[in-house]
Amino acid sequence: MRLIGSVAELRELRRSVQLPGSLNARGSVGLVPTMGALHQGHESLIQRCRQECELTVVSIFVNPLQFGPHEDLSRYPRTLDQDCQRCEQLGVDWVFAPESLDPGSAQEAQSGRMMRVMPPPELLRPLCGSFRPGHFEGVLTVVAQLLHLVQPQRAYLGQKDFQQLVLIRRMVRDLWFDTAVVGCPTIRDPDGLALSSRNRYLSPEDRQQALGLSRALSAAQDALAEANLRAEDPSAEAILAVAGRVLAQHPDLRIQYLELVDPETLQPVERIGHRALLAVAAHMGQTRLIDNLMLEAHARH
Ligand code: AMP
Repeated sequence: MRLIGSVAELRELRRSVQLPGSLNARGSVGLVPTMGALHQGHESLIQRCRQECELTVVSIFVNPLQFGPHEDLSRYPRTLDQDCQRCEQLGVDWVFAPESLDPGSAQEAQSGRMMRVMPPPELLRPLCGSFRPGHFEGVLTVVAQLLHLVQPQRAYLGQKDFQQLVLIRRMVRDLWFDTAVVGCPTIRDPDGLALSSRNRYLSPEDRQQALGLSRALSAAQDALAEANLRAEDPSAEAILAVAGRVLAQHPDLRIQYLELVDPETLQPVERIGHRALLAVAAHMGQTRLIDNLMLEAHARH
């Protein structure tokens, strides 16, 4: 495994694998973008990338552009040595961990004088977009930089950050990036909590409360399955009420949103149709957590 600390080094190496015949028949470069503090969720993306690509690149970069002024940039976990060990064990070829991705000065980037990728407003209004102004602009800008630098044929992203996945797919389509975006399932702890680098902020008591998120999602899924068995097509309102009742049993969770949306447009739906995404965000103490589940309607009896 090679640890790459600068853009210049990455560029040089990337050019060397562009030489004809330097990659074998599968020939593709795969990118797994992360902010580090790697867990099994990240590992699942890396493993998939290893299976499908000739060269696996993991980027580790805590992107300042995607944090709001009152968010957890300064305390975000940074565990580069452990992350590199994990990557080595997983057979990663390159870890790209730059200090900075600002081509100009840091002040220029922070003061908003840097070029940014602007997401379409209708994909920004739902879910996290309205609660985290500037967040997705920051994500897309850095992902665009990484795609340009690494030039991967495939990029692996988690469905856990569903709105991010939808926005990156859209950016790749609209700006003609030559990269296939591969969405990968959410990995959970056995009790249901979706893995996240931020889970390490949670005390054991916080964690119990945080389980309300995944419990609410599965209660909604069960309610949908039962309704389908009775040949009913429940309204979004009914499904949201089921999830809402479970969340209410976890009073320390401060819910930001609970929404049932179309998985492509992210607009709210009134009925599930074939499938709809149930997504939730909440604060547990200082820690912001998100989760989602694709609700699938089953054939009526
Ligand atoms: P992050 O380091 O949190 O920015 O995440 C890097 C990538 O890992 C993103 O594509 C996330 O969606 C993905 N990811 C984070 N948590 C999980 C999880 N529990 N299961 C699968 N993918 C995840």
